[in-house]
Amino acid sequence: MCVSPLKRICHWGPLSALGIIKIITLMTIHCSRQWWSPQESIPGAASFLLFFCLSGSTLFHFISAIFEGPGYLTLKWMPEKATDTQYLQYCTVCQGYKAPRSHHCRKCGRCVMKMDHHCPWINTCVGHYNHGHFTAFLASAVGGCCVSTVILISWVATVLSLKPLPFPPPSVYTLILVVFSIGLSIGVVLAVGMLLYFQLLAIVRNRTEIENWILVKAQYRRNGTDTKYVYPYSKGWHFNVSQVLTWDCTPVGDGITWPVIDGCDQYTLTREQLAQKLDKRKRALRYRIIKPASGSKFPITHGFGVFFHPLCTDESRIKLDVGDIVVVTRWKRYWLFGEKEQKSVGDAGRRRIRGWFPQLCAIEVIENDLYGTENLSKDD
Ligand SMILES: [Zn+2]
Ligand SMILES: [Zn+2]
Repeated sequence: MCVSPLKRICHWGPLSALGIIKIITLMTIHCSRQWWSPQESIPGAASFLLFFCLSGSTLFHFISAIFEGPGYLTLKWMPEKATDTQYLQYCTVCQGYKAPRSHHCRKCGRCVMKMDHHCPWINTCVGHYNHGHFTAFLASAVGGCCVSTVILISWVATVLSLKPLPFPPPSVYTLILVVFSIGLSIGVVLAVGMLLYFQLLAIVRNRTEIENWILVKAQYRRNGTDTKYVYPYSKGWHFNVSQVLTWDCTPVGDGITWPVIDGCDQYTLTREQLAQKLDKRKRALRYRIIKPASGSKFPITHGFGVFFHPLCTDESRIKLDVGDIVVVTRWKRYWLFGEKEQKSVGDAGRRRIRGWFPQLCAIEVIENDLYGTENLSKDD
């Protein structure tokens, strides 16, 4: 759910990230002072200062990304022109339309402006308003950990060299802690470095991770035809970068209207999204539940096949009873993904029940007219 920034920090993700930043910073400062004292040489002082700035910048941008937040669309949002709603998807949870580039985040419980992904380390989404801070956080963390890896490994090499030490011999605990910090630092350089690469690519192309998927599907839908889908938001790498990476990390724009290339308009992408949803519904099949599904991630009552083929996804598993009808849109060998049909209680306040369930709990319903327009809702 959408919570205050202070509450967002009290979660395993941000607390672990803060712990890692603190351990690496303290151990690097300790080793740096012994191995390459900042008081004794200019290069020593420079490396110390460099690390100190990168560590401080990591902490600053990390906290800013959490406090700034991704930017949530106001509840019950409507475009200025009422007729434009025909090009937009409706969010039943926020009870409003989704502005271009906005997506609903189930973890935040709100529609997020230019949503990229929900990041557990900052316990909120990366979106329009914190994209710059988030990227600066990743860059500072990778830079800081490169410096700390060099300093920490040099310190350990000096300790293990069996030559007389220029500083008091460390205790076994200190040595273990330093080796542990080296592991953390290298881990950060590799894992966060990879994430940084993808974030920079997203900024340079002005295309979020979600929009990448939409574009892949848009091109796939046009395979074998003469038409080509034109992605509307990329106006050249220099322009794209200047929209996100500003000096104070404040993005350009309001998160609702976006600069587009010639020949496109504000709804070029949302129209394609609606068409893709419609395609998905056309492929959908109805299934009737013949055995109750427990909703467990590791169900033990559905045989070995299901138990030994758990799904590698954090999408929900749903509990179903005999006689329920589910509209299935995705298929895996032992699992089906779909939405349970509910007796119409009116759109407002209706909670959609969607998720995976074991395939052997259901049989396909053979009917001719499955996709009567009354089954189509605008949101997915
Ligand atoms: Zn929403
Ligand atoms: Zn989120």
